[in-house]
Amino acid sequence: MKTVNSYAANEPGGKLNPFKYELPNLGSDQVDIKIYYCGICHSDLSMLNNDWGMTQYPFVPGHEIVGKVVAAGRDVKNLKPDDLVGLGWNSASCMHCDQCMDGSHHLCDTVEGTIIGRHGGFSDYVRSHWSWAIPLPEGINMKKAGPLLCGGITVFNPIISSGVKATDKVGVIGIGGLGHMALKFLSKWGCEVIAFSSNPNKKEQILAMGATKVINSRDSKELESIAGSLDFILNTTNVSLDWNSYLTTLGPKGKFHTVGAVLEPMAIPSFSLIMGEKSVGGSPLGSPALTRTMLEFCVRHNIYPIVEEFPLAKVNEAMKHLHDGKARYRIVLKI
Ligand SMILES: [Zn+2]
Ligand SMILES: [Zn+2]
Repeated sequence: MKTVNSYAANEPGGKLNPFKYELPNLGSDQVDIKIYYCGICHSDLSMLNNDWGMTQYPFVPGHEIVGKVVAAGRDVKNLKPDDLVGLGWNSASCMHCDQCMDGSHHLCDTVEGTIIGRHGGFSDYVRSHWSWAIPLPEGINMKKAGPLLCGGITVFNPIISSGVKATDKVGVIGIGGLGHMALKFLSKWGCEVIAFSSNPNKKEQILAMGATKVINSRDSKELESIAGSLDFILNTTNVSLDWNSYLTTLGPKGKFHTVGAVLEPMAIPSFSLIMGEKSVGGSPLGSPALTRTMLEFCVRHNIYPIVEEFPLAKVNEAMKHLHDGKARYRIVLKI
C-alpha cells in the first residue's frame, strides 16, 4: 500500500481540494512514478465538468505527467527505479488485441485513460502499465515536456499518419495549446505553415513559433487569397467553424484532419470533397512508440510548448486561468 497526496474534486465543476488515497500493491507489469511536473490540458477541464458524461468523483485530473520511476513490478523489463518517464492520456492497454499487436495501442478497445475511472497526475505519485510510461530522452527539458505527452502527440501523430512531406504547404486552425505545438512541429518538419487565427494580437508570436504566414480566418478575402494551395490542414479548435471555407483552401488530394473535439456534427458538402479528391479525418493521441519518436524529435530540434508554471497548491487558480482562455500557451503544475 502506498499513500498518494493529490487534489480532487467531489462534484462536476467543483473546486480541487487536497485528497489522499491508497494505491494497492504494485502489479507485476506496473510502475509507480514520482511526479515532477504535470501539464493542464483542456480535457482535464472537460472531465472536471463531466462534459463527456464519464467522470467519476472524487476526480483527480492530470495526464501530462513527467517524473521518475520509483518502483517497477517484477515483469517490467525496460524500466527501473530512477528512470525518467512521461505519462499521457493513456496508462494501460490490453497488449494482445490486433491494435496493440500492430503497435496502435492508443486504438485498443480497452485502453485505460489516466483520468478515467482512476486517479491522475495532480498528485505526488501516479501508477501506470509499463507500456505507457514513456522513457524520456537524455537532455529533455522536464519543466516543458509534460504537455508533449498529450497535446504534443495529438498534433504530431497526424503529421505521420497523413504522410505530410517537408515540401508541403500546410495550415493549422486555432493557435492555442495544441495549435502552437503543431506550428513548431510542422515548421521543423520543413513545411510552409499557414496559421489560421482570428486574434490579430497574437500575430508576432505566431510568426515566432514558425508560421510563415498568418491568415485572419474571419476575413473571407484572406481565405480566398490562398484558395486551392494547401496539402494538409490540421484543426485544433473544438468549436464549429465554416468548414467548407477551409476546404476551399486545400489543393487537389488535400487532407483536412481534426484533433479538436467538435461536439456538433461537422457540416461538409460532399462536392467539396469529390472535386479534387479531398479527404477528411481525425485521430486521438498516438502510440507509445510514436510518442518516443516524437520526444527524440523534440530534443533534436528544441521543440517545446510555451509554458506558464503554477505550484500544485495553486491548482484552482491555474484551472481558472485555463477556463478563462488566458493560458499562453500551456500551463504546467510544479509538484
Ligand atoms: Zn490532454
Ligand atoms: Zn489492445
